[in-house]
Amino acid sequence: MKYTLYREGNFYKGTLHAHTNRSDGRISPQETIERYMKNGFSFLGISDHMVYGYYPEAEDENFLSIPAAELHTHEKGVAHHLLALGEPEHTGFSYGTLDPALNKLDVQSLIDLIVEKNNLAIYCHPHWSRVGIGRLCELENLTGMEIYNHECEMGWRSGKAEVFFDHLLWHGRRIWCLGSDDTHSKDYTFCGGYITVKTPDFSHRGILKAIADGSFYASSAREGQPAPRIFDFICGDGMAKLWCDPSRDVYFYFSTSTDPAKWSYSYKCIHAKENDPVSYAEQEIPEGTKYVKVTIEDFSGNTSWCQPIWLED
Ligand SMILES: [Zn+2]
Ligand SMILES: [Zn+2]
Repeated sequence: MKYTLYREGNFYKGTLHAHTNRSDGRISPQETIERYMKNGFSFLGISDHMVYGYYPEAEDENFLSIPAAELHTHEKGVAHHLLALGEPEHTGFSYGTLDPALNKLDVQSLIDLIVEKNNLAIYCHPHWSRVGIGRLCELENLTGMEIYNHECEMGWRSGKAEVFFDHLLWHGRRIWCLGSDDTHSKDYTFCGGYITVKTPDFSHRGILKAIADGSFYASSAREGQPAPRIFDFICGDGMAKLWCDPSRDVYFYFSTSTDPAKWSYSYKCIHAKENDPVSYAEQEIPEGTKYVKVTIEDFSGNTSWCQPIWLED
């Protein structure tokens, strides 16, 4: 049986991309954290621009501050933005303002530096950044990319990036997808983009390891609404199986190639009526499938993306 959500553990909701008045947000880190805690978030990465932030004073047994920053570099009209996410005990970055010389590195060197410093590197808002899909597919060492960025979507209508994610998968890139808020403190930019991590270890290390392993799913939601939850997604005995909150649409996608020059896939969509929503779906896996992807949407348009399950090692 194949899966990405761990067999053991509990689910924790969080977002890893948020700004405060330490860069171009309007409210303080403490006020930002309080807002997320009130909304039931269990972890938050305050990722101010070129400021590596960690806020242990806000932590308790139900809430973790994940050390984070958003780093930038430019390349021919493209603004590459990357999240660096680390463990307090093992990160190679010092807290506070980062060296502006990092902005001069080319994007691959910046990703490699983030990884060398024991951090996960996440590619932010590719649509907003104006990166070409081909260029994104060349990048190595990324743990994930934002399939949904709430600030970019609400402010600029450029936060949805499913097409970028699909291209990465078509090229055989093993990368995970994340939802992020990227709030800059405006009311409409809170709690619309997030991830839900499953781990038996609610610690910085446990959360980051689960993200590296793909034990989480990504969500986009209208403010104040929850996206549909995913309870499990597994592939075994020739079937792909999904358990989720009652939903309107379930999309299975089976890719039988990781050669982008080869057109080879199949799909199955299930569209339910409001009085008979889907909370379990299964589908036969076609012969030769390389990976399976599932996305669900509820009756209000809130979406959750399972991580792809790769069927070959
Ligand atoms: Zn950004
Ligand atoms: Zn940002």
